Amino acid sequence: MELATKMNEEENLDCIFCKIVNGDVPTELIAENEHAIAFLDLYPKAPVHILVVPKIHSDNILQLDNSSSLIGLFELIRKVAATKTDGQFKLQFNTGQREGQSVFHTHAHVLSEQSK
Ligand code: AMP
Ligand code: ZN
Repeated sequence: MELATKMNEEENLDCIFCKIVNGDVPTELIAENEHAIAFLDLYPKAPVHILVVPKIHSDNILQLDNSSSLIGLFELIRKVAATKTDGQFKLQFNTGQREGQSVFHTHAHVLSEQSK
């Protein structure tokens, strides 16, 4: 699946997920909409492990205050969960280093034991 070409004007140049959004780092793209992309986690911790990422950079969900981006993010989370899991899944936003965040670009983990 090709990433839609869209300049990310709020890119953080050092951010790996900004690079993925811009197509500068390859990924296994699952789905996208105007505001977010979904791709496979490189080191899956469950049979289904998909990351859903807003296209604009913010360090974490508390910093993401753009309503359109928030709505787009959750629309894509719902689509991915509905189409790539059997309907039972975990949704996780690790926020802050102590709580396990290692990539400081807002992202949701969609984790499930069973794909659709
Ligand atoms: P977190 O620890 O909550 O910040 O989650 C970051 C996630 O990103 C981890 O589960 C990593 O396995 C994953 N990850 C890191 N780099 C990449 C990459 N280039 N492509 C896909 N997933 C990645
Ligand atoms: Zn970023």
